[in-house]
Amino acid sequence: MSTGIQKYGNQRYIILVSGSAAETMQKLASQAGQQETGGILIGYYQDGQARITEATPPPSDSRRSYARFERGVNGLKAYLADKWLSEPREYYLGEWHSHPATWARPSPTDHLQMRKILDDPNIDCACPILIVVAGHSKPSPKFSIHVYDGMTKSPAPLYRC
Ligand SMILES: [Zn+2]
Repeated sequence: MSTGIQKYGNQRYIILVSGSAAETMQKLASQAGQQETGGILIGYYQDGQARITEATPPPSDSRRSYARFERGVNGLKAYLADKWLSEPREYYLGEWHSHPATWARPSPTDHLQMRKILDDPNIDCACPILIVVAGHSKPSPKFSIHVYDGMTKSPAPLYRC
């Protein structure tokens, strides 16, 4: 398992995923077995690149099933307030969840959810990132990464670079 930073990009965006964030998502996804799991992505922007430093476990009020994950909110506000005071300052960058039985590709529901997050003034994130972790990752990629900026209905995926 890689512990280095993984770089993903498309024509518009570059995203760096820390080894520990990637490991956390893979570990939680495999621990969750046949249930979806997920959390939020935390990090910061530097030189126009998003740097994901952390993927959180699911808040305790999340609702999970085989083909659905509704992320809860318990504890997130306080956690993000702490991160805001860290050096470098870190904040909400997006969402991640697992697809235990399918590809890492976002579902139509996922696209819809992310556009809701994009429009949510309480979340206040101009281009939320979605990482989906595949349960059965062979031969499909382990992750898919998309950025929702409201420019297109279904954004282009970012590829490892
Ligand atoms: Zn999904």
